[in-house]
Amino acid sequence: MKLSLTTRIFLGYAVVLVTFGAVSGFSVFTLRQNQVEIRLVSEGYLGLSQTVAAIETFQANQAKDTARLRDEPSVETRKALIRLARLYFPGLMAGRLQSGKETAVRVLDFAPDAEKPFVTDVARKFDELKTRFAEYEIVADQAFSLLESPNPDWEQAHAALDRLQQMENSLSSTIRLLHGSLESRIRERVRLTQDRERRTGVAIIMLPVVAIGVGLLATGIAARSLRPVRTLIDGVSRIRRGDYEAKIGVDGDDEIAVLAREFDAMAKALKERESQLQQKQQELLRAERLAAIGRVSAQVAHEIRNPLSSIGLNVEMLQEQLEDVQFKTVEEMKEAKHMLASVMREVDRLTEITEDYLRLARLPTPVKRAEDLKRMLEEVLGFAHEEFERAGLEIVTELADDLPVSADEGQLRQVFLNLIRNAREAMSPGGTLTVKAIPRDTRLLEVHISDTGVGIAPEHREKLFEPFFTTKQGGTGLGLSLSRQIVEAHGGQIDVESTLGRGTTFILVFPRA
Ligand code: ADP
Ligand code: MG
Repeated sequence: MKLSLTTRIFLGYAVVLVTFGAVSGFSVFTLRQNQVEIRLVSEGYLGLSQTVAAIETFQANQAKDTARLRDEPSVETRKALIRLARLYFPGLMAGRLQSGKETAVRVLDFAPDAEKPFVTDVARKFDELKTRFAEYEIVADQAFSLLESPNPDWEQAHAALDRLQQMENSLSSTIRLLHGSLESRIRERVRLTQDRERRTGVAIIMLPVVAIGVGLLATGIAARSLRPVRTLIDGVSRIRRGDYEAKIGVDGDDEIAVLAREFDAMAKALKERESQLQQKQQELLRAERLAAIGRVSAQVAHEIRNPLSSIGLNVEMLQEQLEDVQFKTVEEMKEAKHMLASVMREVDRLTEITEDYLRLARLPTPVKRAEDLKRMLEEVLGFAHEEFERAGLEIVTELADDLPVSADEGQLRQVFLNLIRNAREAMSPGGTLTVKAIPRDTRLLEVHISDTGVGIAPEHREKLFEPFFTTKQGGTGLGLSLSRQIVEAHGGQIDVESTLGRGTTFILVFPRA
């Protein structure tokens, strides 16, 4: 069963509270029990025992007087003893029996249930003694009447005294028994109370110890449950400092562990977002720079294009006119032709560069149509074929059928031409260009353009696609930059793998149409 943190801490403290409550309740309960016990003994049994002791004494004295009557020769003494017995004894005895009975009835009110039968029995004993003393008075009176005369009939008197003494004996044994049972009851109650007090004492010392132990345990559990909070705080502050790699690492499945996992997930999401943001920022920066460069270069190219074309036209016209001009020597004519041809070559090159600039600056959004990569590549290679042959280079192709793309044919053709031209420029005679087009999976198509050329130095890899980056004399450094823009505008990607001195492969990925 999995308990939440709050429940665990709450339960811990609830157990402590219940334990302390139980200790207090137990103490109060036993205290009350002892109070009842003490009251029973001090206000009840001790009083009853004293009363019975007094009754016992009266009864003993009376029995002694009765014994004296039997042998007393003096009639005066007999009369005095009889008067005493008649006058004091019945009143005193009745008074004591009455007060004993009343005490017993009062004790019944507060005696615990277990003691009630005993107390009721004692009360009944007092009643019984009362009836028996009444009977005793009648028999005593008969004996006293016989003994009051100066010359009593001794035979009759002795018989009456015998009966009286018999009754006295039975009465005093009853009283003794009652006294004894009260005394032993008192001893028993006192012993019981002492026992209970001892037990209570032990419990009152032990239970708080247990309660404190439980409390410490609850505190320990709470502290243990809360320990991961420290780890959590450390982890979160690491994340705050931007260290998204470190996992917070709280195991388990309580709230803190769940929170830690959430933080880990958050750190991961943050990291992803940050790298996305960085990439976006870089793209934005590149786009901005391209736009600025594009504007300036378009302006420059525009300014140059018209004069350049008029220079070209004029050179062409000059070349035509040269045919009709008379030179002093053939060498002179050749030299003039040669100079014009080189001017024309430079003009062509400059025109090409300005065209490149203008293309980059005013790259229109592609107008896409359903095309097939195999057909497009075959056409482009068809153009390039002759140039390669002349340069002593071989072309190998591996083109799969059915590679549909949605593309602006002119723009993609430009990309392939750029890459193939770069490959040609990187190779020396004897090299091989390999063009491969295959489906990567159900959604993507791949084009590989590999050469066995000089390769790319690692430090150049980063800047390869930047506009104006070139390692070639007279290069514009616009080919790859333009190619990348076009490929991305087609929802594709361009990448490069290269080994210096061995060759280079450009890998293009397009979504299948
Ligand atoms: P350019 O061809 O005008 O130099 P590009 O943008 O086409 O400009 O190429 C930029 C640079 O990338 C080149 O100058 C060259 O250093 C490097 N490069 C491109 N393609 C290759 C390749 N196939 N082999 C080796 N280097 C290459
Ligand atoms: Mg190039």
